[in-house]
Amino acid sequence: MVRAFYWNRHNDSDILCELCPHNCLIPLGGKGICEARENKDGELIAANYGLISSMAIDPIEKKPLYHFHSGRPILSVGSYNCNMDCGFCQNHSIASPAQKQGRYISPEALAGYAADIPNNIGVAYTYNEPLINYEFVLDTAKHVKAHGLNNVLVTNGLINEKPLEALLPYIDALNIDLKGFTEEYYKMLGGSLQAILDTISLAHKHCHIEITFLVIPPENEHHISDIAQFISRLSDSIPLHISRFFPMHRYIDKPATPPETVLKLCETASKYLKYVYSGNM
Ligand code: SF4
Repeated sequence: MVRAFYWNRHNDSDILCELCPHNCLIPLGGKGICEARENKDGELIAANYGLISSMAIDPIEKKPLYHFHSGRPILSVGSYNCNMDCGFCQNHSIASPAQKQGRYISPEALAGYAADIPNNIGVAYTYNEPLINYEFVLDTAKHVKAHGLNNVLVTNGLINEKPLEALLPYIDALNIDLKGFTEEYYKMLGGSLQAILDTISLAHKHCHIEITFLVIPPENEHHISDIAQFISRLSDSIPLHISRFFPMHRYIDKPATPPETVLKLCETASKYLKYVYSGNM
């Protein structure tokens, strides 16, 4: 059992988790919204520590990162659960699993495995939301750095500033989802737009970032100009990936995004940004 970081005792038995903006108040024996952090005997435990649901060697372009070690592979790993609840989740079997059937791998073993793969550039923490497995990602990232390799986060960006600041020195690149551009939309997904914008701005100061926008017509396509303008105010050289949605999870009856919609949005975003890519085409 690994003790989690970033929490406080609220009273004799409840715990306030301060890792992400949900700031869950967790009663004795309970879990936070993400189900990855548990109040066990009055201590907050990282319940998924080292529990790996999926592992693959992917091209870095699949993260997607197009401007970071292009053409090279990266060892990609995921665990379980998420701190948001998107009806259109493209990875819901591991984001909200009925059962967790992963296997345990220690940070040292994972970093050693990454170092043994020919041409591998490092480890990508992906598939589920990596930030809720904060302690495992941080510990592994330190071992990965010791091997001279890179750490990549593929994330929804929902984390508080203090833990993010402590993690970023070990991270070389992030792909951050920007799912829309209103607080109302993010509220529907169980997130916070301002928190994501803060994560993007802070990460941009530390390392390489690329942004992904999953287009789900008609609910978020009209956010594209605001998204592109926000990114361009940080830098017009930050790559934006505009991705096609396929029916999944609670959106199983919705049609896939037409390719022409993605291309139209790419055109709009290109007025503000130098690098705009279509994805899932
Ligand atoms: S990390 Fe999990 S437990 Fe902690 S505040 Fe966020 S959702 Fe709640």
